[in-house]
Amino acid sequence: MSTIVEARGLKMYFPVGRTLGGKPKRLLKAVDDVSFSIQKGETFGLVGESGCGKTTVGRCLVRLYEPTDGRIFFDGQDIAHLGEKSLTPYRRRMQMIFQDPYASLNPRMTVASIIAEPLRYAGASKAYQTERVRELVDLVGLKPDHLQRYPHEFSGGQRQRVGIARALACNPEFIVCDEPISALDVSIQAQVINLLHDLQERMGLTYLFIAHDLNIVKYISDRIAVMYLGSMVELATSDELYANTLHPYSKALLSAVPIPDPKLEAQKKRQIIEGDVPSPINKPKGCAFSSRCPLACDKCRQSAPTLKEAAPGHFVACHLVEAQG
Ligand code: SF4
Repeated sequence: MSTIVEARGLKMYFPVGRTLGGKPKRLLKAVDDVSFSIQKGETFGLVGESGCGKTTVGRCLVRLYEPTDGRIFFDGQDIAHLGEKSLTPYRRRMQMIFQDPYASLNPRMTVASIIAEPLRYAGASKAYQTERVRELVDLVGLKPDHLQRYPHEFSGGQRQRVGIARALACNPEFIVCDEPISALDVSIQAQVINLLHDLQERMGLTYLFIAHDLNIVKYISDRIAVMYLGSMVELATSDELYANTLHPYSKALLSAVPIPDPKLEAQKKRQIIEGDVPSPINKPKGCAFSSRCPLACDKCRQSAPTLKEAAPGHFVACHLVEAQG
């Protein structure tokens, strides 16, 4: 497999407040020096609590945000700081599916018009738009008579199918799925996940799948990265992460995932993380997790651990985990 997307030293800081001279008073470090690569055809899961920076990473990768620093390679080309004109050929190749299908669809547009929107921007002919929209509706499991209806006439699951059809309109290679099922009923979630999985197989798509639900991420992802307060704390294949969890934060997140068997669930030891996530404006010195980690020692409060390979392909940022070799 070859790399399709790579982030190197990615940083995204947002200014908070302004001085009289117009300079930012403080910086909210939403993403702070994150590096990873995604292989063609892979599903790369990104998990963490809300506010950990996972959505910001996704938005940077498809260049909805220009990062503060770092590099983003798409198919070998650094696109991190390209202007809008130079980005045009890449826009078609990278798309995003949003969390809330209702908020992301224009309520005044028909489904046909919503799905055709990216094709109109790309300058496609009317005839091609009509033909492609019919294909897409079929691909995502909607019916031709849905085309002239409006978003409010659909269920949450159907609206997410419209969002998926719109994202697929220009034949992208890479899609950021930003919590695509969080707003849906549990009964509908599996249908949308299966649809995304089928589409990946048929079209050779690559996904960055953002979620806070570790159950779903395990099912769909080849590899999973765990984020905490703007940094990546653990990265491994899906099986390895669940069988051999190494970072104290990942362990706590996993212990919160319910086990379907009520007996095993009752016996399970749950690790509660004390306290709230600190503000990304005012991160703790040293390890960002030190203010909540039950294993924190003096070293943790003084210096920040870097991501090191603890087992083949398994990377962890924790002073207590030995690096390989
Ligand atoms: Fe906990 Fe220290 Fe490891 Fe950070 S470096 S996760 S504070 S043990």
